[in-house]
Amino acid sequence: MIGLLNEHERTMAFAEVALGQIKSLRQTAVPRNYEIWYVYATGYNPALNKIINETLARAGTLSEADLEQIYDTYLSQLRASDRIDKVGSRVINEIDDVMALVNEAMGSTANYGQSLAGASERLAAASDQASVRAVVEGLIKSTRDMQVQNRSLEERLAASKVEINNLQHNLEVIRAESLTDPLTSLGNRKYFDRALLEAVRGARERGEPLSLVMFDIDYFKSFNDNYGHLTGDQVLRLVAMALRQNIKGQDITARYGGEEFAVVLPNTGLRQALTVADHIRRAVMSKELKKKSTGEILGRVTISAGVSMLSPSDDADTLIERADACLYAAKRSGRNRVICEADPEYSVEMQIQVA
Ligand code: GH3
Ligand code: MG
Ligand code: MG
Repeated sequence: MIGLLNEHERTMAFAEVALGQIKSLRQTAVPRNYEIWYVYATGYNPALNKIINETLARAGTLSEADLEQIYDTYLSQLRASDRIDKVGSRVINEIDDVMALVNEAMGSTANYGQSLAGASERLAAASDQASVRAVVEGLIKSTRDMQVQNRSLEERLAASKVEINNLQHNLEVIRAESLTDPLTSLGNRKYFDRALLEAVRGARERGEPLSLVMFDIDYFKSFNDNYGHLTGDQVLRLVAMALRQNIKGQDITARYGGEEFAVVLPNTGLRQALTVADHIRRAVMSKELKKKSTGEILGRVTISAGVSMLSPSDDADTLIERADACLYAAKRSGRNRVICEADPEYSVEMQIQVA
């Protein structure tokens, strides 16, 4: 009881903070905004608090567009686990229903069997036409009953099949979402880890080359500091678009971490991978950034990249490590460039790391 009371008091305190913020910023008290402020009050989602604090410090308020973006980026993906729970309980209900149907069907089949056996005995004992007719009529009736029951069973099973198909589709959507980065719609880290392992396995099996490019945005921290996190998020989308537009077919793109991206290039050697990475680098630097809300010109951002190629002694981790070391070499040699493991800058980087 005390626990309940505390939980009540604790959640009421969050609710009051949430409503207080909505009142003082004169926002609409719709559930989405309430949820944003409630989560803010709990402090459970530090990324959400950070972006809200930064936006408030910069703009003094949160616009409708800010709220929508914050919700999409920091909250809607949390729903995946809730939705998995819901789909899970619907699957259990559906299985219970189907089991009940099967039990019922088994029961009526057993009854029908008994009435057939009874009819057979009664027929053997029947001495006149009237009693034979009575047995046959009884059989016709129980057969009709059985038909009616079978039809309703079929209908209910068909409905159940539709429901199970829907559930399967829901699970597929949730699965796809769990592998997608909501901000950029690229694959997320989990997706990348799986895709790289699979690509390494495939390359080994087919005896093909495989290259990996790791990208990192240059001076992104100061970009965020100057223009705000939400504008920074637009840059992440822009880089994602450059990645998407410069790859083909079986190539894999992912957001590896905050402002780091990865491209896995199956059946691609080092030189070719270098060319792809450089196209992406050029695509990013060719875009002049404009702040959507004000039209203010923000200049350009650049990215650096490191490229490694699968060697016989590699696994996914060592391939990443070498691409990463190349990326650091690119940063060290001035940024806005692509370095691969055949470049002298990479050997220098390795000497520095060893020393
Ligand atoms: P460098 O050229 O050496 O890479 O410098 P940098 O400032 O980009 O590197 P650093 O690692 O110091 O900063 C990375 C920044 O990326 C810090 C953080 O503000 C920003 N960042 C990470 N994730 C996100 C995100 O989801 N959105 C936004 N807007 N910024 C992010
Ligand atoms: Mg970084
Ligand atoms: Mg960076």
